[in-house]
Amino acid sequence: MREYRDLYNVFYTYGGEKDYQATTDNFDKWLKVHNEERASESSCGYYEDDEEHKNKECICYESADSFTIEDVDIILFNKEEK
Ligand SMILES: [Zn+2]
Repeated sequence: MREYRDLYNVFYTYGGEKDYQATTDNFDKWLKVHNEERASESSCGYYEDDEEHKNKECICYESADSFTIEDVDIILFNKEEK
């Protein structure tokens, strides 16, 4: 039996709604990668060269308090296949 006790479900939260994002063992690193992906896709809608987007205050970069984190307790029974 393999157990994972250090995993967290990450939800984007807005107006009382929760939107599942990912399960991770490191929220800070996940948020960094998440924001880098958003920035590389220009999720803000600006063009890559626009000052608004190049600014680190761009809405591409979501802050930690936009998310809720919940503990996960996953217990797996199937053998790991080699
Ligand atoms: Zn942007």
